[in-house]
Amino acid sequence: MIKDKIKLFLVIIFAVLCDVRAQADFDAIEKVSLFQENGLYNLDIEFHKKASFVPRVHILPNGMQIFLSFNKPINIPKIGKLNQGIVKGYFFEKFGNSSLMFIMALNQKVEFVKKKYTKNSIKIVFRKKPTIIIDAGHGGKDPGTRSSYENYPEKTIALITAVELRNALLKTNHYNVVLTRDKDVFVSLDDRIERAKSENGDILISLHTDYNKDKNLRGISVYTLPPIGFSESDREFNETLRKSKQFSKSLVGYIPNLCKIKHQACRSSELKILKTNIPSVLVELGCISNKKDSKLLLSKLFREKVIYAILYALDEFFDKEGKNSERRVFGKGNNERRRHFQKKQSVF
Ligand SMILES: [Zn+2]
Repeated sequence: MIKDKIKLFLVIIFAVLCDVRAQADFDAIEKVSLFQENGLYNLDIEFHKKASFVPRVHILPNGMQIFLSFNKPINIPKIGKLNQGIVKGYFFEKFGNSSLMFIMALNQKVEFVKKKYTKNSIKIVFRKKPTIIIDAGHGGKDPGTRSSYENYPEKTIALITAVELRNALLKTNHYNVVLTRDKDVFVSLDDRIERAKSENGDILISLHTDYNKDKNLRGISVYTLPPIGFSESDREFNETLRKSKQFSKSLVGYIPNLCKIKHQACRSSELKILKTNIPSVLVELGCISNKKDSKLLLSKLFREKVIYAILYALDEFFDKEGKNSERRVFGKGNNERRRHFQKKQSVF
């Protein structure tokens, strides 16, 4: 009897040990790391050389989900800290005995760039969507200037164009957009600048209309800050200014000559709204002191033309090779839309 009891005890011990071993002997995931290089984030998951798995990757606007099915029971992996500011949190969750879900939440909107699977690793490359701060000038008790010929103030055109620009940018699915105001309210310049900083803006575009004593003067112009010097301490400022000017030049390049102001479309002025720590431009959409411009600014086709110029310039700015510019603005192989756009050039 005692022998039998010992036998049973040993069998139980053996079974428990086997079970513990079965659970403990397979750490399928060796390492999870995330690093940033040239503005791209690389998530690497490295597997045990004996791991055999089927992955399913879902990229979400603010994170990602990776579902991994293994051919044997696995442990919940212990992963170290992913030291990147973009990561809000992450964890592994177990499904059944042999499946894992890796969930990572990010504090920025991202877009998928590419993924690569090897026998023992998964690499996912993604990038932060650039945040575009659109600043509709004036608003509320501050109407800005008033058209000399049509019955509208500057603040109205600025807001309409800002909302249209936001919609066009969101349609490309490549940008995160923040408006400093989306209705007819007064927002101080300090609050606008603060907003651009707190939203981690990558570029600020302030929209206004021009007013000139010379009623014949008409056309679009783009302002950046004037240079203040090139001392070592101003290096950051000068780099931001260089980027602002680069964007301004590119934007003006996408505006037909007919629509640009006569003397110089790229201009500089000590405008307070441009004193952010990010590349910033102020676009004068036209002169509301001029009869033709006053009317044009009311035309959706005209505004669309300026919006496309801004879109092209942004695509060029954030994707220097410019390879994807057309795809971005018009969508994949959307020739019809492109033809439509070309036809619209006759508006002016
Ligand atoms: Zn203004």
